[in-house]
Amino acid sequence: MRLDKLLANSGFGSRKEVKDLLKQSHVRVNEKTVKQGKVHIDLERDEVEVKGEKVVYEEFVYFMLNKPSGVVSATEDTRDKTVIDLLDSVDKVKAPFPVGRLDKDTEGLLLLTNDGKLAHQLLSPKKDVGKYYYAEVGGALDTSLVEQFKEGIELDDGYLTKPSELTILSSGTRSEIELMITEGKFHQVKRMFKAIGKNVVYLKRYAMGDWILDPKLEKGSYRRLTQEEIDYLK
Ligand code: URA
Repeated sequence: MRLDKLLANSGFGSRKEVKDLLKQSHVRVNEKTVKQGKVHIDLERDEVEVKGEKVVYEEFVYFMLNKPSGVVSATEDTRDKTVIDLLDSVDKVKAPFPVGRLDKDTEGLLLLTNDGKLAHQLLSPKKDVGKYYYAEVGGALDTSLVEQFKEGIELDDGYLTKPSELTILSSGTRSEIELMITEGKFHQVKRMFKAIGKNVVYLKRYAMGDWILDPKLEKGSYRRLTQEEIDYLK
Protein backbone atom coordinates (compact mmCIF):
# COMPACT_ATOMS: atom_id res chain seq x y z
CA MET A 1 0.00 0.00 0.00
CA ARG A 2 1.20 3.55 -0.72
CA LEU A 3 2.53 5.41 2.31
CA ASP A 4 0.22 8.42 1.80
CA LYS A 5 -2.82 6.13 1.57
CA LEU A 6 -1.78 4.26 4.70
CA LEU A 7 -1.43 7.52 6.63
CA ALA A 8 -4.72 8.97 5.37
CA ASN A 9 -6.50 5.69 6.24
CA SER A 10 -4.92 5.68 9.69
CA GLY A 11 -6.43 9.02 10.67
CA PHE A 12 -3.57 11.38 9.84
CA GLY A 13 -5.85 13.69 7.89
CA SER A 14 -6.60 14.43 4.27
CA ARG A 15 -4.22 13.70 1.41
CA LYS A 16 -3.08 17.35 1.62
CA GLU A 17 -2.42 17.12 5.39
CA VAL A 18 -0.53 13.87 4.89
CA LYS A 19 1.56 15.51 2.14
CA ASP A 20 2.47 18.31 4.56
CA LEU A 21 3.48 15.81 7.27
CA LEU A 22 5.77 14.10 4.79
CA LYS A 23 7.22 17.39 3.50
CA GLN A 24 7.98 18.50 7.05
CA SER A 25 10.00 15.28 7.66
CA HIS A 26 7.61 13.97 10.30
CA VAL A 27 7.36 10.49 8.77
CA ARG A 28 9.91 7.70 9.13
CA VAL A 29 9.86 4.26 7.54
CA ASN A 30 12.16 1.70 9.12
CA GLU A 31 13.90 4.54 10.97
CA LYS A 32 14.57 6.61 7.82
CA THR A 33 12.81 9.86 7.02
CA VAL A 34 10.63 9.50 3.95
CA LYS A 35 9.12 12.48 2.14
CA GLN A 36 7.44 10.78 -0.77
CA GLY A 37 3.88 9.54 -0.42
CA LYS A 38 4.13 7.11 -3.29
CA VAL A 39 6.62 4.85 -1.43
CA HIS A 40 5.26 1.31 -1.15
CA ILE A 41 4.73 -0.03 2.36
CA ASP A 42 4.64 -3.71 3.17
CA LEU A 43 2.15 -3.88 6.02
CA GLU A 44 3.68 -7.07 7.38
CA ARG A 45 7.26 -5.89 7.49
CA ASP A 46 7.72 -2.13 7.37
CA GLU A 47 7.56 0.01 10.48
CA VAL A 48 6.07 3.46 9.97
CA GLU A 49 6.34 6.29 12.53
CA VAL A 50 4.76 9.73 12.58
CA LYS A 51 6.42 12.22 14.92
CA GLY A 52 8.10 9.29 16.67
CA GLU A 53 4.90 7.31 17.20
CA LYS A 54 4.39 3.92 15.61
CA VAL A 55 1.48 3.75 13.13
CA VAL A 56 -0.74 0.75 13.70
CA TYR A 57 -2.69 0.06 10.54
CA GLU A 58 -6.21 -1.20 11.02
CA GLU A 59 -7.84 -2.73 8.00
CA PHE A 60 -11.21 -3.27 9.59
CA VAL A 61 -13.17 -1.08 11.97
CA TYR A 62 -16.22 -2.01 14.06
CA PHE A 63 -18.53 0.52 15.68
CA MET A 64 -21.59 0.32 17.89
CA LEU A 65 -23.98 3.24 17.29
CA ASN A 66 -27.02 4.32 19.25
CA LYS A 67 -29.07 5.38 16.25
CA PRO A 68 -31.41 8.26 16.89
CA SER A 69 -34.75 8.68 15.13
CA GLY A 70 -34.62 10.84 11.98
CA VAL A 71 -31.48 9.41 10.36
CA VAL A 72 -31.41 6.74 7.69
CA SER A 73 -29.40 3.50 7.77
CA ALA A 74 -27.52 4.19 4.56
CA THR A 75 -24.11 5.45 3.53
CA GLU A 76 -25.52 8.20 1.29
CA ASP A 77 -28.85 9.89 0.87
CA THR A 78 -29.87 12.93 -1.12
CA ARG A 79 -32.51 14.11 1.37
CA ASP A 80 -31.88 12.70 4.82
CA LYS A 81 -29.01 12.65 7.26
CA THR A 82 -27.39 9.19 7.30
CA VAL A 83 -25.83 7.17 10.11
CA ILE A 84 -22.44 7.79 8.45
CA ASP A 85 -22.95 11.55 8.96
CA LEU A 86 -22.83 10.82 12.71
CA LEU A 87 -19.25 9.55 12.52
CA ASP A 88 -16.05 11.55 13.00
CA SER A 89 -14.12 12.22 9.80
CA VAL A 90 -11.22 9.93 10.85
CA ASP A 91 -13.68 7.07 11.12
CA LYS A 92 -15.47 7.89 7.86
CA VAL A 93 -12.19 7.42 6.00
CA LYS A 94 -12.46 3.68 6.66
CA ALA A 95 -15.71 3.56 4.65
CA PRO A 96 -17.86 1.73 7.21
CA PHE A 97 -21.44 0.79 6.35
CA PRO A 98 -24.38 -0.25 8.53
CA VAL A 99 -24.91 -3.97 9.12
CA GLY A 100 -28.57 -4.24 8.13
CA ARG A 101 -31.09 -1.48 8.54
CA LEU A 102 -33.24 0.21 11.11
CA ASP A 103 -36.14 2.35 9.87
CA LYS A 104 -35.68 6.11 9.89
CA ASP A 105 -37.88 6.42 13.01
CA THR A 106 -36.36 3.38 14.82
CA GLU A 107 -33.75 3.98 17.48
CA GLY A 108 -31.04 1.89 19.06
CA LEU A 109 -28.29 -0.56 18.29
CA LEU A 110 -26.72 -0.45 14.85
CA LEU A 111 -23.36 -2.02 14.07
CA LEU A 112 -21.17 -0.38 11.46
CA THR A 113 -18.14 -1.96 9.85
CA ASN A 114 -16.10 -2.15 6.67
CA ASP A 115 -15.67 -5.90 7.19
CA GLY A 116 -17.94 -7.30 4.49
CA LYS A 117 -17.42 -10.89 5.59
CA LEU A 118 -18.56 -10.23 9.16
CA ALA A 119 -21.56 -8.20 7.94
CA HIS A 120 -22.56 -11.02 5.61
CA GLN A 121 -22.31 -13.61 8.41
CA LEU A 122 -24.37 -11.49 10.77
CA LEU A 123 -27.13 -10.98 8.24
CA SER A 124 -27.20 -14.56 7.02
CA PRO A 125 -30.60 -16.15 7.74
CA LYS A 126 -28.73 -19.39 8.50
CA LYS A 127 -27.02 -17.79 11.50
CA ASP A 128 -30.34 -17.06 13.23
CA VAL A 129 -28.86 -14.03 15.01
CA GLY A 130 -31.45 -12.77 17.50
CA LYS A 131 -32.54 -9.13 17.23
CA TYR A 132 -34.06 -7.77 20.41
CA TYR A 133 -36.53 -4.91 20.33
CA TYR A 134 -38.37 -2.79 22.85
CA ALA A 135 -41.59 -1.33 21.47
CA GLU A 136 -44.58 0.70 22.49
CA VAL A 137 -47.78 -0.36 20.83
CA GLY A 138 -51.16 1.38 20.66
CA GLY A 139 -53.93 -0.48 22.58
CA ALA A 140 -54.09 -3.34 25.06
CA LEU A 141 -52.44 -6.69 24.35
CA ASP A 142 -53.81 -10.10 25.26
CA THR A 143 -51.43 -12.66 26.77
CA SER A 144 -52.52 -15.18 24.08
CA LEU A 145 -50.34 -13.18 21.68
CA VAL A 146 -47.22 -14.71 23.23
CA GLU A 147 -48.21 -18.12 21.83
CA GLN A 148 -49.27 -16.60 18.50
CA PHE A 149 -45.89 -14.90 18.06
CA LYS A 150 -44.16 -18.17 18.94
CA GLU A 151 -46.11 -20.01 16.23
CA GLY A 152 -45.46 -17.32 13.61
CA ILE A 153 -47.39 -14.32 12.35
CA GLU A 154 -48.69 -14.12 8.81
CA LEU A 155 -47.57 -10.83 7.29
CA ASP A 156 -49.47 -8.77 4.70
CA ASP A 157 -47.65 -10.56 1.83
CA GLY A 158 -48.58 -14.03 3.15
CA TYR A 159 -45.14 -14.73 4.65
CA LEU A 160 -45.27 -16.68 7.93
CA THR A 161 -42.61 -15.38 10.30
CA LYS A 162 -40.29 -17.76 12.13
CA PRO A 163 -40.95 -18.28 15.86
CA SER A 164 -40.41 -15.10 17.83
CA GLU A 165 -40.39 -14.41 21.56
CA LEU A 166 -42.85 -11.82 22.78
CA THR A 167 -42.83 -10.47 26.33
CA ILE A 168 -45.65 -8.15 27.35
CA LEU A 169 -44.21 -5.69 29.86
CA SER A 170 -47.42 -3.72 30.32
CA SER A 171 -50.82 -3.61 28.67
CA GLY A 172 -52.98 -0.50 28.38
CA THR A 173 -53.68 2.35 25.98
CA ARG A 174 -49.97 2.33 25.16
CA SER A 175 -48.60 -1.16 25.81
CA GLU A 176 -44.94 -1.98 26.24
CA ILE A 177 -43.33 -5.13 24.87
CA GLU A 178 -40.03 -6.82 24.15
CA LEU A 179 -39.69 -8.96 21.06
CA MET A 180 -36.90 -11.23 19.83
CA ILE A 181 -36.89 -12.11 16.14
CA THR A 182 -34.23 -13.97 14.18
CA GLU A 183 -35.14 -12.52 10.78
CA GLY A 184 -34.88 -9.09 9.29
CA LYS A 185 -37.76 -8.71 6.84
CA PHE A 186 -38.61 -5.19 5.72
CA HIS A 187 -40.39 -3.34 8.59
CA GLN A 188 -40.80 -6.74 10.25
CA VAL A 189 -41.73 -5.73 13.80
CA LYS A 190 -44.20 -3.08 12.64
CA ARG A 191 -45.76 -5.49 10.15
CA MET A 192 -46.08 -8.27 12.76
CA PHE A 193 -48.10 -5.95 14.97
CA LYS A 194 -50.07 -4.57 12.02
CA ALA A 195 -51.05 -8.20 11.27
CA ILE A 196 -52.71 -8.46 14.69
CA GLY A 197 -54.36 -5.04 14.29
CA LYS A 198 -51.91 -2.96 16.38
CA ASN A 199 -49.67 -0.02 15.62
CA VAL A 200 -46.07 0.26 16.79
CA VAL A 201 -45.66 3.84 18.00
CA TYR A 202 -42.07 3.58 19.27
CA LEU A 203 -39.38 1.08 18.36
CA LYS A 204 -35.87 0.60 19.66
CA ARG A 205 -33.39 -2.26 19.12
CA TYR A 206 -31.44 -2.93 22.29
CA ALA A 207 -29.43 -6.01 21.30
CA MET A 208 -28.35 -8.10 18.35
CA GLY A 209 -26.83 -11.53 18.96
CA ASP A 210 -24.41 -11.07 21.85
CA TRP A 211 -24.05 -7.34 21.27
CA ILE A 212 -25.98 -5.27 23.78
CA LEU A 213 -26.43 -1.55 23.27
CA ASP A 214 -24.03 0.19 25.64
CA PRO A 215 -26.23 2.16 28.09
CA LYS A 216 -23.51 4.82 28.26
CA LEU A 217 -24.03 5.70 24.59
CA GLU A 218 -26.23 8.75 24.17
CA LYS A 219 -28.55 8.85 21.16
CA GLY A 220 -26.44 9.65 18.09
CA SER A 221 -23.14 8.62 19.65
CA TYR A 222 -20.99 5.58 18.99
CA ARG A 223 -17.92 3.74 20.13
CA ARG A 224 -15.53 1.13 18.81
CA LEU A 225 -16.33 -2.48 19.65
CA THR A 226 -13.94 -4.04 22.14
CA GLN A 227 -11.84 -6.98 20.92
CA GLU A 228 -14.08 -9.29 22.95
CA GLU A 229 -17.17 -7.93 21.18
CA ILE A 230 -15.51 -8.28 17.77
CA ASP A 231 -14.73 -11.90 18.55
CA TYR A 232 -18.37 -12.80 19.35
CA LEU A 233 -19.03 -14.01 15.84
CA LYS A 234 -15.62 -15.27 14.83
N1 URA B 1 -38.66 -3.88 12.40
C1 URA B 1 -39.23 -2.73 11.98
O1 URA B 1 -40.40 -2.67 11.73
N2 URA B 1 -38.45 -1.66 11.90
C2 URA B 1 -37.13 -1.64 12.19
O2 URA B 1 -36.47 -0.61 12.09
C3 URA B 1 -36.55 -2.85 12.63
C4 URA B 1 -37.34 -3.96 12.71
